[in-house]
Amino acid sequence: MFDLIIIGAGPAGLTASIYASCFGLKHLLIGKLVGGQMTLAPDILNYPGFTEINGQELTNKMLEQAKKRGGEILTDLVIDITKVETGFLLKTEQNKAFETKTIILATGVERRKLNIPGENEYVGKGVEYCAKCGKFDYLDKTAIVVGGGNAAAQTAVQVGHSAKKVFIIYRGTELRCDTVWAKHIAENPMIEVIYNSVLTEISGDGQKVNSVKIKSKNSQNQEELKDLVIDKVFIEVGGVPGTALLLPLGVKMDPGGFIAVDERLSTSVPGVYVAGDVISHKYSIEQITSAVGSGARAASLVFSFLKQSSAPTLWGSSQIKRG
Ligand SMILES: Cc1cc2nc3c(=O)[nH]c(=O)nc-3n(C[C@H](O)[C@H](O)[C@H](O)COP(=O)(O)OP(=O)(O)OC[C@H]3O[C@@H](n4cnc5c(N)ncnc54)[C@H](O)[C@@H]3O)c2cc1C
Repeated sequence: MFDLIIIGAGPAGLTASIYASCFGLKHLLIGKLVGGQMTLAPDILNYPGFTEINGQELTNKMLEQAKKRGGEILTDLVIDITKVETGFLLKTEQNKAFETKTIILATGVERRKLNIPGENEYVGKGVEYCAKCGKFDYLDKTAIVVGGGNAAAQTAVQVGHSAKKVFIIYRGTELRCDTVWAKHIAENPMIEVIYNSVLTEISGDGQKVNSVKIKSKNSQNQEELKDLVIDKVFIEVGGVPGTALLLPLGVKMDPGGFIAVDERLSTSVPGVYVAGDVISHKYSIEQITSAVGSGARAASLVFSFLKQSSAPTLWGSSQIKRG
């Protein structure tokens, strides 16, 4: 019987493990891909303490720290969770079963891809899934943003501060973003929305992206193909949170399938905590800093839950066992 099982070994899960060790919790971390999405980041520029670091290198450092603090890590996939009298029973792909008093779900998000020619080839060479992660300098650059929701609109506004031109490519007839973002877009002459359109191909010189093909429908509903010369492609078409495992437990989710939490980051089911990208966007942003913060917070909540403490606080508690 574990005090805690952490599901997911990205930055949120690894941080939760480091803190669980500090709190003296008997815990196990089960993750399919150690480092999670962080391993895909070629160049992390916004993680404090490192001016610039490769995602795999940051993963190795977090993993080493988690192990050094005493964390036990299993590379496996959790496929089932059931509520039992003493807590929860977890089953894995490798036919293992574990009992635990509490759970932290840190299974991240699988970002949607367009699955078009050139997309995989130019990831990190002009094709990005995260404008917040970039070099923040788009001066004299032309960018396209694919998508029509809040993430796409926010990216267009952010990039539109400095870029020469930003095209939003959206398949619908009206953006789905909040009105505040739609207003910023409408007021910025550098941003142009191309409606009824999809991206069909991304091209470049092998080293960096330089053009895209777009298929649009004109006012007579006829299809038109267009080439655009561009420097950057931001793909912001959402992602699928790894939260299906919690459905049978009745954990409340938001309409996008992300976990609903209260202001203390607790879920609707006692003993079940969450960290990282799976948390509803109201309380989290899809970034490594946010993931590590909520990983620490979740471990703190578990500690308080197990101690039956009524007022969980991370920094003020004298109950914290420093490892
Ligand atoms: C290309 C790219 C570049 C990025 N660049 C940056 C950047 O520069 N700066 C930044 O701050 N952020 C960046 N991000 C975002 C950042 O990587 C994520 O916000 C962060 O990794 C989320 O952490 P997480 O721990 O919540 O989830 P993830 O990193 O998604 O980790 C989830 C973990 O859960 C595991 N898992 C899923 N389901 C199960 C299951 N059923 N059983 C067991 N394990 C499971 C996965 O294998 C993985 O280990 C980037 C993302 C991408 C895709």
